[in-house]
Amino acid sequence: MTPDEIKAALCAEAARLGFIACGIAPAGPVGEPSANAFRTWIDEGMHDCMAYMANNMDKRLDPALLVPGARSIVAVALSYHPREFMPASSLRLSSYAYGRDYHDVMRERLAQLFAYLRILCGGTVGGRTFCDTAPVMERYWAWRAGLGWMGKHCNLIIPGAGSMVFLGEIVCDIELPPDIPMPSRCGNCTACLAACPTGALCAPHRLDARLCLSCQTIERRGALAPSTVSRLDGRIYGCDNCQTACPWNRDAAPTTIEEFAPSPELMSMTPSDWERLDETRYRRLFKGSAVKRAKYAGLMRNIRAALHGDCGGDGGQNDGSTV
Ligand code: SF4
Ligand code: SF4
Repeated sequence: MTPDEIKAALCAEAARLGFIACGIAPAGPVGEPSANAFRTWIDEGMHDCMAYMANNMDKRLDPALLVPGARSIVAVALSYHPREFMPASSLRLSSYAYGRDYHDVMRERLAQLFAYLRILCGGTVGGRTFCDTAPVMERYWAWRAGLGWMGKHCNLIIPGAGSMVFLGEIVCDIELPPDIPMPSRCGNCTACLAACPTGALCAPHRLDARLCLSCQTIERRGALAPSTVSRLDGRIYGCDNCQTACPWNRDAAPTTIEEFAPSPELMSMTPSDWERLDETRYRRLFKGSAVKRAKYAGLMRNIRAALHGDCGGDGGQNDGSTV
């Protein structure tokens, strides 16, 4: 098969597996101004308690250091855009956390896609798959691979699918025909910046995680800042405001991935159910879910903060682990 035929067959298989976009970027160091913007973001401390973001900077800025001989990056996306959001009348999670942990869902599908690539190429392809599991600038590579553009809310926007997507990559040692990066279609819009309840989107494409409710409710260990607590407005794990305000999400097709659908039990939780959540129910409700990142103590801190304004605290800093 020619490289073009391999690429076409690979993207067709990606669609069959449920990916809503698939594209190719040539592997190499992260280009400017993206690399410098990331360094500045770290230097200014905007990653806050996500200390792991500052580790392995050399690898983050050059995937060939993670995969020796890397020539191409196959970037894919899975939509998690929900059919319906959790009711605003109760406490609520970010929609990315409604169903099964995306790391697991993406890992399984990426493994199948990589196996198919090996078959297409006669079994001679080396490489690795990634999904938020290593220092890889996933949104950058998805943009380079032509999947969409970087919205002013710092998420990738894919036409027709919006920004509620999980990203994954196969970094491999064969050369495939690259796609063309997509220019921004944000135009003069600033809806996401206006919708942010904390000012965390301090400028287009600049997210200050010290202020972001998503970072603070998921990544922070110990007490929440009073300024965070006063703006929770029922959010107990993450925040979707900047994304739900985005016109590109208004008509986005809902996900077809069944694993991302919330359970009826989760959708019907009342404020009093959340307040009385014990560890046994927590484990059942969030079995195989990304919500376990906050741990039981962290989720209860958030619940008490949203219901009673308590800042709480359970000590420690996040080390980047998922349990
Ligand atoms: S997730 Fe929420 S707090 Fe964070 S930038 Fe978006 S709107 Fe602001
Ligand atoms: S809300 Fe507007 S500015 Fe923000 S990402 Fe969406 S289109 Fe771009």
